Amino acid sequence: MTRTNLEFKTEVKQLLDLMIHSLYSHKEIFLRELISNASDAIDRARYESLTNSSIMENEGGWQIKITADKEAGTLTVSDNGIGMTKDEVIGSLGTIAHSGTKEFIAALQSKEIKDNPELIGQFGVGFYSSFMVADKVTVLSRKAGAGDKNGVKWESTADGFYTVEDVEKEKKGTDVVLHLKPDEKKYLEEWEVRGIIRKYSDYIEHPVVMDVEHEKESELKKGEKVKIVEEETLNSGKAIWLKDKSEISADEYNEFYKHVSHDFSDPAKVIHFRAEGTSEFTALLYVPSRMPFDIFYKDYRVGPALYVKRVQIMDHCEQLIPMYLRFIKGVVDSSDLPLNVSREILQKNRQVEIINKNITRKALETLAEMKKSEFERYLTFYMEFGRVLKEGIHYDISKRETIADLLLFETTQKTPGTYTTLQEYLDNMKEGQEEVYYITGTSREEITKSPYLEAFRDKGYEVLIMPDEVDDFIMGALGEYKGKKIKSVVKGDIKLDKSDKEKDAGKKLETLIALIKEQLKDEVKDVRLSGRLRDTACCLVADEGGIDPQMEKLLRSMGQNIPENKRILEINPSHPIFEAMNNIFEKDQKSAALEEYIRLLYDQALLLEGSKPKDPVAFASAVTRLMVKDAKKE
Ligand code: ADP
Repeated sequence: MTRTNLEFKTEVKQLLDLMIHSLYSHKEIFLRELISNASDAIDRARYESLTNSSIMENEGGWQIKITADKEAGTLTVSDNGIGMTKDEVIGSLGTIAHSGTKEFIAALQSKEIKDNPELIGQFGVGFYSSFMVADKVTVLSRKAGAGDKNGVKWESTADGFYTVEDVEKEKKGTDVVLHLKPDEKKYLEEWEVRGIIRKYSDYIEHPVVMDVEHEKESELKKGEKVKIVEEETLNSGKAIWLKDKSEISADEYNEFYKHVSHDFSDPAKVIHFRAEGTSEFTALLYVPSRMPFDIFYKDYRVGPALYVKRVQIMDHCEQLIPMYLRFIKGVVDSSDLPLNVSREILQKNRQVEIINKNITRKALETLAEMKKSEFERYLTFYMEFGRVLKEGIHYDISKRETIADLLLFETTQKTPGTYTTLQEYLDNMKEGQEEVYYITGTSREEITKSPYLEAFRDKGYEVLIMPDEVDDFIMGALGEYKGKKIKSVVKGDIKLDKSDKEKDAGKKLETLIALIKEQLKDEVKDVRLSGRLRDTACCLVADEGGIDPQMEKLLRSMGQNIPENKRILEINPSHPIFEAMNNIFEKDQKSAALEEYIRLLYDQALLLEGSKPKDPVAFASAVTRLMVKDAKKE
C-alpha cells in the first residue's frame, strides 16, 4: 500500500506552532473539539440517512466512543458518523478550509493572538488543538455508505508534514488517535476524561461512551470481588435548549455557545425562548461578544442551526434570521417542519417566515432591554456589531423605527466616547432647530475640524458624528425620526438664518459669482452663497438627494460605476477674500490673478471635502508663487 508524504499549508504550520509552543491555559479543550467534530459527523450521517438508508450500514445507534489505552499511551475518539474519503481528509486536515485565510495568517502573527492564544478559536481550529497534548496524531476514517472497507489513514507529528495511506477499516466513521505527550498522560485517567466531558460536552446529544472498569461481587465465589469492564455513557445528552431555563447554569449556556459558534469567548447575551401557537419552536440564541473576523465576507455562514424535533437538519439556516442580525448564533428546534425539509422548501415556507419574524422581534427586544438596563454591555455590543445592525434601517422598513432607537452616536457637543441616542438628540435640540443634522467622515478628529460645521457650531446646534462608510446610506434611508427630518450637513441647502450684513455682502457679489460659475462650469453644477460657513471661504456640497463624497469613494472602491457627480460650490460672503476679489473684478474682469484665485478656491474646497485637486502640481506651484509674493513684502 502506498503512503504519500504531504506538506501542511503554511497557515497550518503556523497554527500548529502556536498550538504547540504558546502557553495555553485550557489544554483540555482538545477533547471538546474532537467530540464536537464527532458529533457533527454523526449529525451529517443521520441527516443523510433520512434519504439514503445505506448510510446506516445496518449498525446500531449513533455513538462517540472514548478509548484510553494506558499501555500504548493513546487516547482515541471514535465516531460512527459520516467519515471522510481520502480527498476529504487531505482537504480538511492539511489546510484551513475557511474563507478568511489571509486574515487568519495575519491574525496568527498578531500580538493580540500571541498574548491570548485562545482568540484563535474564532477561526475554527478544532482538530489541530490535538497537538497541544499529543506529539503524534493518527486519524483513521471511512466514508459511510460506500459499500466497501476502503478507508484512509492520516498521520502527523506536526513537523510540517503528514502522511496519508489506504487502509482497511471495518466500521464507518472516524477514529482520532492521540499519542499523548509524556507529561500529558493524565488524560488517560477515567476521572479526568469524565470530568472534562461533564464540563464541556454534557449537552452533546449523542452518547459519549467509555469502557469503565468496575469491581463487582463474584457470582461464583461468594465474598470475592471481580473486575469487569462495562461501557458507560458519560454525558447526559439532554438537548440544552429543551431544558427549562431554571435548570441551566450560566456555564452550561456558555459551553453550548462555544460548541455552536466555534468562538472561544463567552457570549454577550443569551436569548432562550419557546414559541407556541401558530408555530411551535424553541430557540436558544446568542449575541456574541466579539465580531467574527469574516462577518463582512460573502461566504460568511449566516443563521442558527436548524433542528426538527431534535434532529439537526443543517448547521446554518439563513432563512431563520434577517441579514442584519447575522451575528446571532445558536439553535432553533421546530416541531412543525417536516424532517426531510430541503433548502428549496425553506425558501418560501410559512413556518420558517413565522420563526424568522419571532426571532427578529425577540432579538430586537432583547437589545432594547440591554440598552435600557445594561448600557455598558450594550455599548460593547454596539461597538462590535452596530455596523451590521444598522443595515436593518435600509433593509427592514417594518423595523426601521425600532432599529433607529437602538442606534448610538457620538456628537459634536459630547466628549469622545460619550454616546447619544436619537431621542436624546431631539431632547437636546436648540430652540428654533427644526432638523436632525449629521456629518460623515473617516474619523472624529477629521470630522470635527470640518468647515461644514462652522455655522452649526455658531448656533450651538449639535451634529451627529458618523464615521462608518455606510452611514450616509443608512441615514438617507431613515429620512426622518419622530417627525424631524434628518439632514447631512454636507448636502443640500442649509438655511440657518443669515444676518442682514451677510445678505448685503451676498448681493454685492452677484456678478462675481456669475464669473466664478462661468469659469468652473465644467467642474461644478452651481455656485451659491453658503449658509453653513463662518471662517472658511468656500466649500463643496452635494445635492440633497445626492451621495456624499465618502459614499462615492466607497462605491467606486467596490468597483461600481458611479457617474460623475458634480457638486455645488458654496461661498462665504463674509470672508474678506471675496471683497478683495470683487475689487479686482470691478477694475478688470479679465484679470489673470482673479482666474488663479478662483481655481485655487475650488482646489481648496476639494481638499476640504477629502478629495484631491485635479492638478496637484499646478495647485502647489500656485500656492508657492503666492507665498513668494507675500514673503517679498516682509
Ligand atoms: P471545524 O470543525 O471548525 O471545521 P476542524 O479543524 O476541527 O475544524 O475540522 C476540519 C474539518 O475536518 C471539519 O470541518 C470536517 O469536515 C472534518 N472532520 C474533522 N473531524 C471529523 C470527524 N470526526 N468526522 C468527519 N469529518 C471530520
